[in-house]
Amino acid sequence: MRTHDHDEIVDVVVVGTGAGGAPLLARLAERGLRVVALEAGPDFDPGDFSNDEVEAPRINWMSDRLSGGETPTAFGPNNSGFGVGGSTLHWGAFTPRPDIRDLHLESESGAGADWPIDHAELIRYIVEVEKTIGVSGPTPYPWDPERRYLEPPVDRNAPADLMALGCSRLGIRATDAPAAILSREREQPHHGRRLGSQNLGTIHQGERYGTKATTANTYLPAAVAAGAEIRADSMVHGIERDALGRVTAVVYRRGGEEFRQRCAALVLAGGGIETPRLLLNTGLANSSGMVGRNFLAHGGVQVWGRFDEQVRGYRGYPSALISEDFVRPADADFVGGYLLQSLGVMPLTYTTSLVRGAGLWGDDLIEALDAWRYSAGIGINGECLPAENNRLELSDEKDEWGIPRAVVTFTQGPNEKAINEHAVGTMTRILEAAGARDTRVLARTAHTLGTCRMSTDPGAGVVDGDGRSHDIPNLWISDNSTFPSSLTANPGLTQLALSLRTADRMLA
Ligand SMILES: Cc1cc2nc3c(=O)[nH]c(=O)nc-3n(C[C@H](O)[C@H](O)[C@H](O)COP(=O)(O)OP(=O)(O)OC[C@H]3O[C@@H](n4cnc5c(N)ncnc54)[C@H](O)[C@@H]3O)c2cc1C
Repeated sequence: MRTHDHDEIVDVVVVGTGAGGAPLLARLAERGLRVVALEAGPDFDPGDFSNDEVEAPRINWMSDRLSGGETPTAFGPNNSGFGVGGSTLHWGAFTPRPDIRDLHLESESGAGADWPIDHAELIRYIVEVEKTIGVSGPTPYPWDPERRYLEPPVDRNAPADLMALGCSRLGIRATDAPAAILSREREQPHHGRRLGSQNLGTIHQGERYGTKATTANTYLPAAVAAGAEIRADSMVHGIERDALGRVTAVVYRRGGEEFRQRCAALVLAGGGIETPRLLLNTGLANSSGMVGRNFLAHGGVQVWGRFDEQVRGYRGYPSALISEDFVRPADADFVGGYLLQSLGVMPLTYTTSLVRGAGLWGDDLIEALDAWRYSAGIGINGECLPAENNRLELSDEKDEWGIPRAVVTFTQGPNEKAINEHAVGTMTRILEAAGARDTRVLARTAHTLGTCRMSTDPGAGVVDGDGRSHDIPNLWISDNSTFPSSLTANPGLTQLALSLRTADRMLA
C-alpha cells in the first residue's frame, strides 16, 4: 500500500470506509488523486470473522450512544459498523433499488422532502455498483420489467418459502430478493476469489468466504491497488481550517497518540451518527442549524408466526424474499409506503428483538425462545418523514476518545405509526395464510439517516445535491447523513451509488 507523510498535502482525506467512503476512495484513486482514508475501527482479517453472536459485535460501533424520545433507536449491533468496510461488514446485503416516487415524495404528497437528485442518473450509478460488487436477483423483476440482474438469485430459505406461500394465497406479488450475495463464484479484481453462496444464516456476524459483498472485498482493495492509503484504528476528532475557512487538515487519534494529516479537501463518510457528531463538536458547516436535525430511522416492524413444523430460519440467506406491492398501497391512509422482506435470525438477535420489541421477560421470554425453531418472520423497511425535533445533539458525557457522546431523540410520528399499522395487518395475513398458528408483533426501527441532509436551499440542509457543504467549499459528505427522506428501499445500495456520484462531482 502506498503511504503518505502527515505533512504532505494529500488531495483528499476520507473519514470512514463504509458504503459512503469506499467507492469514492476507489474512484478518486483510480483517477490519480492522492487519497488517504482514516477509519476508526480495525482492519479485520476475514478469517477472523466468527458466526458466534457473542464474538461478532466487535464489527459494530459499540461505544455508547444515548437514545431518547418515544421510540428510541437501539444502537449497538443494530445500527452501525466499525472497521475497514464500515457497516457493510455486517449488513444484510438486501439490495432493493430506490423507487422514483420516493425521490419526489414532497411533490407527490406535500409531506417529506424531495431529493435534489435525478432518479435516472442515480440508477445509472446503481447499475455500475451492482456489476462491481455482484448483486444477484430475479430477471424479470416484477415491479420493473426492464431491469436485468447479472447473477441469478440465491437459494430461498424456509421463511422465504413460507412468505411466498402466504403471498401467493393472498394474491400478493413476491419474488427472490435482490442481494449483494454471489450466487456463483467470481474473481474480484484486486481481491481474489469470492465463493458463491454457502447458504449461511450468519452473514450479519461477518462473512469469511467473500460471498457477501462488503466494501472490504470490493472497492477498498481496488482503491489500494490504485494508490489509496487506508489507516485503520484512526479516530478523527478535529478539523483545521485556514483564515478563509477552508479545511487544511484533520486531527485523529491512533494508538493513544495524536496525528494531523494535511489535505486539500475533506470527505466525511462516518455515517448518520458520527458525521454530525464530528461537525457539532467542531462547530463546522452548520450555518443553517441543520446539523443533527431530521434524524430518520426506517420503520422496521416485524411480525413472527409460529408454525407446527420446524422452520429453522437461521439457515440460509436471511432475507431471500421481497415484495414491493406496498410501496404505494391503494388503501393507504399515509404518504409513502414500505417494502416487505422475509426474515430468519440468529438466537441472540431474536432474543434481543423479543425483549426490546415485545417487552418479553422471564417465563414468557423462555416460552417464545422455545418456539424459535418453529418461527418465521416478515419485516418491513418503511418510509420515515423528516421532523426537525428528531435530532442528534451532544451529551455532557465523553467517550473513550474524549469526544462528547451523541444523544439521539427519535419519536415516530402519525405517518410512521399508520405505516406500521397497515404493515402489521399485511404481514399477519401473509403468515396466517401460510399456516402460522399464532403471530407476534416486534416493534423496531432501523438505520441512521438524515442528520446532514442535502438540499438545494442552503438554509434547509447541510450539503448540496452533490454532497458538498453549503458553507465550506472543500468539505464534502458522502454517507447516510445526507438522505433528505428515508426512501422505502434499504439504504446501502443507494449509498454506494451516491458515493460514486459524489466522487464524480468532486472530480468535475
Ligand atoms: C445490522 C444492519 C443490517 C443492515 N442491512 C442492510 C441491508 O440488508 N441492506 C441495506 O441496503 N442496508 C443495510 N444496512 C444499512 C447499510 O449498511 C448502511 O446504510 C450503510 O453501510 C451506511 O453507509 P455509511 O457510509 O453511511 O456508514 P458506514 O457504512 O457505517 O461507515 C461509516 C464508517 O466510518 C467510520 N467512522 C465513523 N466515525 C469516524 C471517525 N470520526 N473517524 C474515523 N472513522 C470513523 C466507522 O467506523 C465506519 O467504518 C444495514 C445496517 C445494519 C446496521
